[in-house]
Amino acid sequence: MLETFAYVRPGTLTEAVKLLSSPGARAHAGGTDLLGCLRDEVFRAETVVSLAKLDELRGVAATPDGGLRIGALTTVAEIVAHAVVKEKYAGLSQAASLVASPQLRNQGTIGGNLCQRPRCWYFRGDYACTRKGGELCYAIEGENQYHAIFGGGACWIVHPSDTAPALVALDATFRIVGPKGSRTVPAEKFFVLPDENAKKETVLEAGDVLTEILLPPPHAGQASAYRKVRARGSWDFAMAGIATSIGLKAGKVADARIVLSGVAPIPWRLQAVEKILIGQKIDAKLIAKAADLAVVGAKPLEQNAYKVPLVRGIVEEALAKLV
Ligand SMILES: Cc1cc2nc3c(=O)[nH]c(=O)nc-3n(C[C@H](O)[C@H](O)[C@H](O)COP(=O)(O)OP(=O)(O)OC[C@H]3O[C@@H](n4cnc5c(N)ncnc54)[C@H](O)[C@@H]3O)c2cc1C
Repeated sequence: MLETFAYVRPGTLTEAVKLLSSPGARAHAGGTDLLGCLRDEVFRAETVVSLAKLDELRGVAATPDGGLRIGALTTVAEIVAHAVVKEKYAGLSQAASLVASPQLRNQGTIGGNLCQRPRCWYFRGDYACTRKGGELCYAIEGENQYHAIFGGGACWIVHPSDTAPALVALDATFRIVGPKGSRTVPAEKFFVLPDENAKKETVLEAGDVLTEILLPPPHAGQASAYRKVRARGSWDFAMAGIATSIGLKAGKVADARIVLSGVAPIPWRLQAVEKILIGQKIDAKLIAKAADLAVVGAKPLEQNAYKVPLVRGIVEEALAKLV
């Protein structure tokens, strides 16, 4: 049952920020996640603030430094179809193409994809879990086959977005406009671990709007990719996924970013793995070492230990493609 709320469609970003600063206000982009959450009473809204009239938040454009600016209201489908994204930021293009279904990619925006709420069935269901301000993460002793193996603690959700790990791997920056003005945050610092704050997934505060994503120009020799493992061939969230952005120079790794999806409450960067790759030629021995290192610190729950060999496998597979 959808509870009554006020619906407003401001014509300027300043007005949107002001409206979103009031208690109980929620931003509405494509609505594919927001409306489901409201209908299922995951949370309530006093006011739904549509961003639809903010045309400056739409579209993909080149930046003066040779990078790319993607407005938060750009649909996931537009990103998939964009030739420059496909050519220069293949990892993002591949990740976007694996988001949900064609209908959801046409309606859902990149901003909404990054700010969507987790899919944990306890959070979405009728449970007062830690993410809703309760005392308990029901996944710890419950049905936890799709939950986190890294970064758990107060809550064991996995981050649901496919584009988020790709953007962290590509070293993107996010612009946020809020009541205190405009600020930029590296994609990696946008997401919040449960032990920092179990009730929210991002650094966004009341009144904040994610307005754009800025991608730096790719370095020479840099190639990015995204691989997603699902429980079935059709659309589904990731059981595990891997976003890579790796630069090769004279056959050796010059720079590397490797970020996992589906295994932690935030896009999970494998910094220790990145470190051992730098300056090396990728071969079978290095790949095996990287796969071992990728799962150090994994803490599987009762039903999701399969994610440990899965992570090893996707790391091996991603690196083997570069040999
Ligand atoms: C059946 C189904 C399957 C899916 N499968 C996948 C999948 O495989 N991979 C994947 O990555 N995603 C998946 N999704 C999620 C889907 O991609 C998101 O629902 C969609 O991207 C959200 O975009 P939206 O514009 O509709 O956001 P909305 O629903 O409008 O908003 C989502 C949330 O973000 C907030 N928000 C939106 N835009 C902004 C902004 N600019 N600034 C601040 N806050 C904002 C809203 O307040 C809301 O809380 C799936 C969704 C469904 C329903």
